[in-house]
Amino acid sequence: MNRASPLSILLVEDDPADARLVDLELRPYWERCRLRRCASMAEAQAWLKENACDVVLLDLSLPDSFGFDTIRKIHEAAPDIAVIVLTGFDDEDFAMRAVEAGTQDYLVKGNADGALMWRSIQHAVARKRMEEELRLAKQRLQAIIDLAHDAIIVMDEDSRMTLFNPAAERTFGYRAEEVLGRPVEMLMPERLRGMHADMVRGFGQASDPARMMGNRPELLARRSDGTEFPAEVAISKVDHPGGRLFTAVLRDISERKRTEEELRRLATTDPLTGVANRRHFLEAAAVELQRLRRYHRPAALLMLDIDFFKVINDGLGHAAGDLVLVAFALICRDSLRSADLIGRLGGEEFAVLLPETEMQGGVEVAERLRQRLADSPVDVGSGVARFTVSIGVAECRPTDESIEATLMRADRALYDAKRSGRNRVRVGTEEATG
Ligand code: GH3
Ligand code: MG
Ligand code: MG
Repeated sequence: MNRASPLSILLVEDDPADARLVDLELRPYWERCRLRRCASMAEAQAWLKENACDVVLLDLSLPDSFGFDTIRKIHEAAPDIAVIVLTGFDDEDFAMRAVEAGTQDYLVKGNADGALMWRSIQHAVARKRMEEELRLAKQRLQAIIDLAHDAIIVMDEDSRMTLFNPAAERTFGYRAEEVLGRPVEMLMPERLRGMHADMVRGFGQASDPARMMGNRPELLARRSDGTEFPAEVAISKVDHPGGRLFTAVLRDISERKRTEEELRRLATTDPLTGVANRRHFLEAAAVELQRLRRYHRPAALLMLDIDFFKVINDGLGHAAGDLVLVAFALICRDSLRSADLIGRLGGEEFAVLLPETEMQGGVEVAERLRQRLADSPVDVGSGVARFTVSIGVAECRPTDESIEATLMRADRALYDAKRSGRNRVRVGTEEATG
C-alpha cells in the first residue's frame, strides 16, 4: 500500500474503557487511519481472515487468549502484519521478550498519548515492511543457493566450510552438517591437499575478486566414498565484517570429459576396425618421427595391402569383406606391441609404425605378420574367407623430410611385393625407383 492511503489499524482489546482511550488518543489522526476494534481473539481471527490490515494493537489478556500465545495466534492469522503489544505495566524485560516473539513495538496503557501511539504505529509498520523485504531477499538468495545446479561452497579464511548447498551434497555425497566447520581440503584427493593453502593465499593476495580455476592440469575433487572426479571450479572472495569469505562454485564435469573422450576417439579411429584412421595415423606417426629423430632412435614403417580383396567382396559379399577387415585389424593388434601404431590408410590398405625397430627387425615383424594373416581364414557366415597380404617395409631415416617420405618408400616396396607375386614382404631401399 502507498503512504497516502489510510492505515488500517485493528485494536484487539476486551476492556471497553481501554479501547475508548485508544480511540480518543488516535482521534487527531482519523484522517490518516481507520481504527477497528475486536473484543476477543476469535473475533480478531475472523476479522483478519476477511480484511486487509496494516497493524494490530494487541492486548495480551483476552477472554479467550493470554500472554505470548496471543501474539502467536495473531501471527498465525496474519503473518505479514505489524504487531504492537499493549501492556498494563512498564517492564523492559517483558517488552524485549515481546519483540523477540516477533512484534514490532509495545505501548504501556495509560502512558501512551496519541502522538507516541501514532509514532509507534508508523514505525511498527515501516519496520515490519523492512523485515518483510529482508525476509524475502533472504528467501530469494536461499532459493538460488538451494536450487543451483552447481555445488556452492563457502569457506572462511582458514578454509573451514560455512556453507554447503544441496548440489554440493549431491556432488560430494556428504550432508552439510557433516562438513560445516571442517577444512575444505577434505573434498580434494589427498595428494593435492598440500598445495591448496598456497593457492588460497595466492588468490587472497591477487587483485581479481573472482576467477575460473584452470583445469590444466586437470582439477580433481574427491567424493565421500573416496572416488575422484574432474571438476570445473569458479572461485570468488568477498570481505565481510566477520572476515574474508571464499566461495567456490563447482561442477562435476565427468560426463563432459567422457563425451570429449568419446568425440576424440570417434575423430581418431576408423569406425569399422577400431585402429587409427588415416589422419590420426599420419599425425601420430609424424610426432613419433620427430621424437625418434631427436633421440636418434630407429623405427620401421610397414605398408600392408590385402591381396585380391575384390575377390572376397565379389565372392562372399561386402559384409564378408568387412568381417575380414575387422579380423585383419584384430590379428595385427594381437601380433604387435602396444607401442606400435596401426592405422587404416583407406580401403584394405593399412600401415604400421614400429618404434625402436631397425630395418631387419621390421622385416621380421612383417614376415611374421604375413605368415599369421595367411594362416588365419575368417569365418564370415556364408563361407570361409582365405586371404593373404603384401607388405612393404621402410626404415625411418633422419633425413626423411616428413613421414610421407618414409611412407612413399614403404609404398614402393609394397608395389614391388604386389608385382612380384603378392603374399610377400619387400623392402624399400632406393629413393626413386619403380
Ligand atoms: P590387390 O591384390 O592388387 O590389392 O587387389 P585388390 O582387389 O585387393 O585391390 P583393389 O584396390 O582392386 O580393390 C580393393 C577393394 O576393396 C575395392 C573396394 O570396393 C574394397 N573396399 C574398400 N573399402 C572397403 C570396406 O570398407 N569394406 C569392404 N567390404 N570392401 C572395401
Ligand atoms: Mg484484557
Ligand atoms: Mg588389395
